[in-house]
Amino acid sequence: MRIGAPKEVFEGEARVAMTPDSATQLQKLGHQCFVETGAGQAAGFTDAAYQAAGVTVLPGAEALFSGVDVVVKVRPPVEAEIDRLSKGQTVISFFYPAQNAELLARAEATGATVIAMDMVPRISRAQKMDALSSMANIGGYRAVIEAANNFGRFFTGQVTAAGKVPPAKVLVIGAGVAGLAATGAAVSLGAITYAFDVRPEVAEQINSMGAEFVFLDFAGEAQDGAATGGYAAPSSPEFREAQLKKFREIAPDMDIVISTALIPGRPAPVLWTKDMVDSMKRGSVVIDLAAERGGNCEYTVPDQRVVTESGVIVIGYTDFPSRMAAQASQLYSTNIRHMIADLTPGKDGVIVQNMEDDVIRSATVAHDGAITFPPPPLKVK
Ligand code: NAD
Repeated sequence: MRIGAPKEVFEGEARVAMTPDSATQLQKLGHQCFVETGAGQAAGFTDAAYQAAGVTVLPGAEALFSGVDVVVKVRPPVEAEIDRLSKGQTVISFFYPAQNAELLARAEATGATVIAMDMVPRISRAQKMDALSSMANIGGYRAVIEAANNFGRFFTGQVTAAGKVPPAKVLVIGAGVAGLAATGAAVSLGAITYAFDVRPEVAEQINSMGAEFVFLDFAGEAQDGAATGGYAAPSSPEFREAQLKKFREIAPDMDIVISTALIPGRPAPVLWTKDMVDSMKRGSVVIDLAAERGGNCEYTVPDQRVVTESGVIVIGYTDFPSRMAAQASQLYSTNIRHMIADLTPGKDGVIVQNMEDDVIRSATVAHDGAITFPPPPLKVK
């Protein structure tokens, strides 16, 4: 098959879905690779680097969309891109079908197959294709770098000839993929790091990373965050009260808060209230990774850096992976390459849309002129 990556059209998006390295691997599966000119520029991959890897560089989006069988992208295709698709073509990208019903209907009408990387189930066999996790990992790490850049002080404690510097205290709220990455990055920079999650089973992992898990004085805690498939269940009002009480208690002592708390399909829970922010020291920093879903912090404005009256910096950027575009493109293109490898079982360049395969079935949201979302429950958990 001919597989091609267009230049992303979403403003400010610097990632690309195919790198010279991933193209080399795709060619080993029997595919031919194409990119739109300049597609990798913002992530540091020049047209010449693609050409050296055997990739054909096409002059524009029109040539790319009409010249390939499989379009690989990062952001969901926009209407103009969907209108360029036709029956027999496949597009593989993030799609968020639940939030993009109209876009999905438009794609269905073209007869093209749509594979949504965000619909890859979180099961062990599919980890190599789990692009949400690879991007959350980068988001968590980059959030700490952003915090450090805004903080204006060391993270690590130091005793110098010019005086003693206390270590920064970092609180990570939500210890999923992004939260664990943030915890690891904060610990490695030398901060005293705390993490909280409604799923107490992650406490051991947090402690083994050199951070401290924040426990609540709440009798029902062990049951309350009861998780299914690695995701949390909504908290009871009593649990939430206990959580907010604990956060209020520790807020004045925290220099940095990185919040990542989310339950799939729901708006972000508000966990870091205005009064908590107001009680933090001047110069403290809150990085709200849940900004896109409304934010965990009451002061968050998506995509903005806000400085409160009391001098606390609240950052709601929603594009952290794009801010590490080379790394993000490398990991995302590898996720895509693994998806294509599963779609090419014969390593002969022939795509087989095996709808009996749990992972392919779950990720395929439109196929053969029909919407195939939502998928049936997984056969193997
Ligand atoms: P995840 O599902 O792995 O983790 C979310 C964690 O939050 C889970 O561990 C869950 O138990 C916890 N949680 C849920 N409700 C909570 C509550 N009330 N209190 C404390 N913890 C709670 O998700 P993830 O893949 O780590 O992603 C986390 C967030 O980061 C998502 O919102 C994702 O969209 C976002 N993200 C943002 C960027 C960006 O650029 N801003 C980049 C990557 C990811």
